[in-house]
Formats: sequence, structure tokens, C-alpha cells
Amino acid sequence: MCGIVGYCGTQAATPLLLAGLSRLEYRGYDSAGVALADETGLSVYKEAGRLSLLTARLRGGEGFSQTVGIGHTRWATHGKPTTANAHPHLSADGRFAVVHNGIIENEAELRRELLDADVTLRSETDTELIAQLLQREYQGNVWDALRRVTARLTGSFALGVLYAGEPETVYAARRQSPLVLGVGDGELFLASDMPAILPYTAQFVPLEDGETARLSADGYTIYGADGEPITRAVQEADWDAESAERGEYAHFMLKEIEEQPEALAATLLPHLTADGAVGDEVLPLTAETAQALRRVVLVGCGSAYHAGVVGRQVIERLAQLPAEAEIASEFRYRQPMLDRHTLVIFISQSGETADTLAALRESKRKGARTLSVVNVAGSTLAAESDAVLPTRAGPEIAVATTKAYTAQLAALYLVAIRLGALRGTMEDGEERRLTAELRTLPHHVRELLGTAERMHALARRQQALSDAYFIGRGTDYAAALEASLKLKEISYIHSEAYAAGELKHGTISLIEEGTFVAALACDETLLPKTLANVREVRARGAWVLLVTTDPDTADAADEVLVIPQVEPLFQASLSIVPLQLFGYYVALERGCDIDRPRNLAKSVTVE
Ligand code: GLU
Repeated sequence: MCGIVGYCGTQAATPLLLAGLSRLEYRGYDSAGVALADETGLSVYKEAGRLSLLTARLRGGEGFSQTVGIGHTRWATHGKPTTANAHPHLSADGRFAVVHNGIIENEAELRRELLDADVTLRSETDTELIAQLLQREYQGNVWDALRRVTARLTGSFALGVLYAGEPETVYAARRQSPLVLGVGDGELFLASDMPAILPYTAQFVPLEDGETARLSADGYTIYGADGEPITRAVQEADWDAESAERGEYAHFMLKEIEEQPEALAATLLPHLTADGAVGDEVLPLTAETAQALRRVVLVGCGSAYHAGVVGRQVIERLAQLPAEAEIASEFRYRQPMLDRHTLVIFISQSGETADTLAALRESKRKGARTLSVVNVAGSTLAAESDAVLPTRAGPEIAVATTKAYTAQLAALYLVAIRLGALRGTMEDGEERRLTAELRTLPHHVRELLGTAERMHALARRQQALSDAYFIGRGTDYAAALEASLKLKEISYIHSEAYAAGELKHGTISLIEEGTFVAALACDETLLPKTLANVREVRARGAWVLLVTTDPDTADAADEVLVIPQVEPLFQASLSIVPLQLFGYYVALERGCDIDRPRNLAKSVTVE
């Protein structure tokens, strides 16, 4: 689930591998290593802990002349984060080196087989088994051995492999875990994520499930699952290297919060036509098909699921269709009832989220129509769904999502409006009014970035809190879910979100003197209801931050933040911004590792 970088060319590989790994460091990992190849064989260097330890040991690569190598940052799934368990792993004869992202599910069976054959295993990982199996399967052709071994693996993997007998070559294979080839001038890169290699090349070729590849300085060959060579067009990443750098910002998260106006504009504007409509490319359905739809399901994990909770309300209202949001890991296993009159929308920043991908495959199997909202072009979700609506947030590096989430909301607004237009369920002039509102969002978000100082001051006062509750109704509740997750994931404060009306059914018993409650009340029609809930918790001692669009609420809470008013259906795009900042500053005051919160990884490519 962490990072892979590979290189073959004419430059010294080690500094490039270390630099590539450092660009993947944001993903959170526990150990790192590189394997280098030349005529004398393979050399492996690895260290538990931060990459800086490995970089220091290798003096940044100084004096290492090898021009072919693979590197890895590990997020342990099998065995503790020790140096022995760090990748690359070698076969017993030292001739094969393997780096691996993912999980081998039949590892117990393979381990038993190898132990029965008296193979001495030097780590607790599933990955080492692959290296050992390669040695056993090798009969003179590495690629054949790789195919035979991968055919025996169940689970997910992105693999980079070196073989001592072919020191000019890097082999690769993937199933369910992303891997791209970066194409340079007389050199080739392998990477689990484009940001790792963006400073060197923007030209890439994604590998698809079941494919293997062979890379050397002279070129590459990709083989399909059937073993036949494949030709695939080289794509150009529209991300520049700078957008994946932190620059003068203390943290990627703050940088990405501030990039939201641009991310929103880039996601929305290409689809808003001059005559006030949403372009038909947003959702390639005919009016007839759209009218025959009976249901929409929005599927995602974490913040993407929260975006779905907003999206379901907007779609239901504008397209007059029953819509529900589902957590991908639940949806995929509960045998959902789907047919061709169901539109399923998959939301994922990386486009590689394992559960969301499995949900897509289940939906396609049942004949549903599928649309993906993803931030990474060339990702698996994008490749496998019937249609794709990209969010154009640019590379998101911080583990806690901000700009990708608000870009997902924007994309879902577009889908809702387009669906409403196709189904004829909006009033006259409604589309024009809504698209005009959408155009104002980047500007309002920029204005809200101005709340940073106030949110910082509030965070200083509240940094010692042990519990937090976020409440709201409707889309305010959806935004509360996301605001609560932001705080909890980076500051490690216990935090929960509740539909405000649910408080009285149990949770209010947790409110005591000084308990922190953030109430979101931006929908006028629901304002009196939420204000009543605010009164109830304050009567029991809660300290309340109220985020509202109504300026006449100054006395309603301990701190009131009045934010710009837009169409209530879109209000979550604004109310979340100060609360992202609040989460960020609380974590900052508590001295947390904001971009790399403990135990978390950026894209969850394992189940
Ligand atoms: N399952 C492997 C391990 O635990 C790879 C984990 C990863 O994706 O970093 O070593």
C-alpha cells in the first residue's frame, strides 16, 4: 500500500530512487530499502524507520554507480516494521530481489510449502515468499518464472523485480495495486504513483490488472494476462512536478486547503457552458436512459463516502431519483440489488481504492450503469467504469484529503444538475441559476481561507479537548461527518458526527461541562431545528462553535462563524473549509505529524 520506485537508464540509480521514495514519503510508511543491479550481482540496503536513515547510510547515493534499481517504502501488513521485514526481499540464492505493494492472501499456504521444502525464510513478510518462489520457478527465463509465480498468488500486488543474471532489466507485475511505467529519454521508471517520478518525466503508461512488463534502458514490453505483448499509448500527466512539492508551506495539508479555489474552478468550469448549462460530457447517458433510471447509489470510503452523502441529497432533489450513499466495504459484500436502471457512482481520489474497485466490479457484473469520479487519470476505476468524470484537484499528497474532497463535491453537483436536465425534473431557469451559483464557489472558498487566523486562535484554545461532536441536518450533517473525520484523523482527538436530531436518542448523555460541539446550520429551512439542538447541548454545559449563514445568531453559541450563503444544496463546499482549517491547526498545536498521521496510508489499495 506504500511506494515503489524503479529505474533503468544511464544515470546512477540510487539518488533517483531515494529522491523518488522521498516524494512518496507522505504516504506514511515504516521502513524503506533499495536493491541495485550490476554485473557483480544485486546489492540490497534497507532500514527500519524514516527514509532519512537510509539516505544517510547511502550518503544520498554518492559513490553508487549502478544504473538499474528498485526501491520501496513499506506499510507493514505481514510482520513488524523491522529492517529484516523491509523490502527489497532476496531469494535464498540472492539472485532475485522483490519489492511489493499489497497483500498476498494465500501466504500461509505458500509459506508452509516453502518451509516443507526446507527453504530458510529470513522475514515474516508475504513478499519474501515471492522472491523464494521466483528462485524455485526459474528455468532460464525470468518472465516465465514471474508469470508462473504470479499465477499462484491470490490477493493484491504491484511488484518490482530484479534478477542478478540480467542486471540491465527491471521486471514488473500488477494485480489490484497501481503501477505505472514512466517513459524518459533513454531511461525508464517504474512507480506506484506518478508524483514519485514527475520531476523526470510526465509521460507514462499505466499497467493494468494481470499485466507484466519488462523494462530496460532500450525500451519496454508490456504483456497482457494472456502472455501476449500489448501496445498501449503513452499518456501525459497533466500534473506538473511543482504541484507535488511542498514549497514554502509547513505542510502539504495547508497547501492543499489553500489550493481549493483552483481545484474547484478546474473541476467545474470546463463543464459549464456559456448558456448556463452543464455539458453533456459530464454524464454520457441519453435522456431516455436517464429517464428510465430508478435509483442512484454513490459508493466510496472515508471522505469519498462523505462526499457521497452530500451527493445523494443533491441528486435526489434535482433529479427526483431515490439516491443513497454506501460505504464500499459494506456494499460489496451485501449482495446489493442492482440492474440496468441503477446508476452507481464510484468516488475515489486515487481511483485505486480496493473496496471501491471491488464494488465497481460487482455493480458491472449485475448490469448497473457505472460512473467514476476520480482524481488520477489512468487509474483502474477510470479504466473500468462505463464513464469517468475527473476531479481536477492536482496531486494530493497529505493523507487527510481536503481539495480532492471538495472537488468531488463539485463533480457530484455537476452530475446532479445534468441528471436533472436529462430527466426534466428541474424547474424552468433552475439549471441556469444553479450553474451561476457553481461559478461563485471558488471565490467564496477563497474568502473562507481568510478564516485561518480565527480558526488558529480557536484551535489554540481547544487543543486540549478530549472529545468533539459535530452536528447538523441535511447537507450540514454530511459536512459534519467530514469535519469530524478531519479533526480525528490528524489530531487523534476522539470525534463523532451526528445528525442533530439524533442527539436526543442517546448521545446527549455524553455532553457535560465544557464538551466541544461544532454545530453546522447553513440550511435556512433547518436552522431553527438545529438551533434548538444547540440550546439543548448548551443547557447541559457544551461549548458550542456555530457555523451558519445567518448573521442574526450572534448569541446562539459560544463562538459563531458566519459564512457566505449560496444555494443550500452546495453549502457543504463552504462550511467544510473553516473546519478543515480548525482540524489542521488543532493538530499543529498538538505537535502531530499532520501530513503523515499514524497508521494511515493515502490510498487504501488493500481490503
Ligand atoms: N504485504 C507486504 C508487507 O507487509 C507489503 C506491504 C506494503 O504494501 O507496503 O511487507
